[in-house]
Amino acid sequence: MSPDIIIIGGGIMGTASAFFLNQRGQRVLLLERGLVGQHASGTNFGNVRRQGRYLPQLALANRSRALWGRLPELIGDDLEFLPTGHIRVCYRPEELQGLQDYANAPEARELGLRIYQGTGMRRRYPWLGPEVLAASHAPFDGHANPRLAAPAFARAARRNGVDLRENVEITRIDKVGSGFEVHSTAGEVFTAPQVLVTAGAWGGKLSSQFGEPVPMLTRGPQMAVTEPLPYVFKEVVGVSSKVNDEVIYFRQIPRGNVIFGGCYRTLPDLDSLRSAAAPQALPLQMERLRRLAPALARAHVIRTWSGVEGYVEDDRPIMGRSSQVEGLFYAFGFSGHGFQLGPGVGDVMAELIATGATGTPIEPFDIGRFQTVSVGRASEAAGQ
Ligand SMILES: Cc1cc2nc3c(=O)[nH]c(=O)nc-3n(C[C@H](O)[C@H](O)[C@H](O)COP(=O)(O)OP(=O)(O)OC[C@H]3O[C@@H](n4cnc5c(N)ncnc54)[C@H](O)[C@@H]3O)c2cc1C
Repeated sequence: MSPDIIIIGGGIMGTASAFFLNQRGQRVLLLERGLVGQHASGTNFGNVRRQGRYLPQLALANRSRALWGRLPELIGDDLEFLPTGHIRVCYRPEELQGLQDYANAPEARELGLRIYQGTGMRRRYPWLGPEVLAASHAPFDGHANPRLAAPAFARAARRNGVDLRENVEITRIDKVGSGFEVHSTAGEVFTAPQVLVTAGAWGGKLSSQFGEPVPMLTRGPQMAVTEPLPYVFKEVVGVSSKVNDEVIYFRQIPRGNVIFGGCYRTLPDLDSLRSAAAPQALPLQMERLRRLAPALARAHVIRTWSGVEGYVEDDRPIMGRSSQVEGLFYAFGFSGHGFQLGPGVGDVMAELIATGATGTPIEPFDIGRFQTVSVGRASEAAGQ
């Protein structure tokens, strides 16, 4: 029997969408070029963070956070999600004002933010460096294991009847009559009345085929992990700064290893699908860590890696209907913050596709906002 919808791309967005579409009674075919979760969804830092997000995105992030808490019952796996809290720290008075404004925003109410300074902060977080001025605490945020995420959603989706095929690369999508023909590099043609593109950093290549280029850059954030240390850093910690170069973040897992990233991104090769771990990143990161949490500067790093992520020019994802073609939907370009959103994006896209509307506002992420991109920029974006 032919599917109701074909999903292209098996990261967390594609696999979660497949899972939730199946729950809503849709027959789903998911096609993944390599193996599910092998790109950004499996290589990311693992932050399940809401604080600091673009405020109009918090409704989506809140919906996703609620799902993170229900994963064992939903997909039979907890993805090692630990709601240990998250702190965002700053070094300067003007940044402290930014943290306070964010905490006071009505959209952020559900996050339960509280700002600590002075002795209160030092008592709670004695390991923070002397330059840290304030810490904004989000008690319900946390972290999870990205390696587990997309494969777990894929397993649950498959168990429930989703047709999920790996090693199938899609080169072209044609609108034919009221449906679509989806062509693979091996010459197969799949048909369905609806298509959802969840191709991550490669999403713009497919949307360009329908005259909807997206100005996107591809970058490889640099990650590292230390040897196991005593388990003292319960919260995920990140620096809030307008100076990109001083942003660093870390989390510790109960086994003791500290995972960190930030301050350096490489240019991945989208054709070889590789994002190199850059040796020059580590000394810079250790320097930023010394400022944030001096004790960590002495830790031994046992592995470094990177991943391929698509960053949309305005730092907001593409989510929703195609503005050109009936039956075509997009969820890609999550600009370095899609892991936390993954379950919520899957749920929202399934609701939108199955019912024609969604209760969570996603208008700011509409692809139509780029309809005015100039021809020069559009072709540049399509070549990414
Ligand atoms: C190093 C790093 C650290 C990050 N840290 C965090 C973090 O801590 N917290 C957070 O919230 N976010 C983080 N992110 C961002 C987050 O990982 C991504 O936004 C999210 O995983 C995107 O999921 P996705 O499913 O859209 O993309 P992907 O995981 O890239 O999946 C897209 C899939 O589509 C497939 N595909 C592409 N083209 C085709 C085609 N033509 N045919 C078939 N299949 C195709 C690819 O093979 C890929 O598997 C980080 C990203 C990176 C790289």
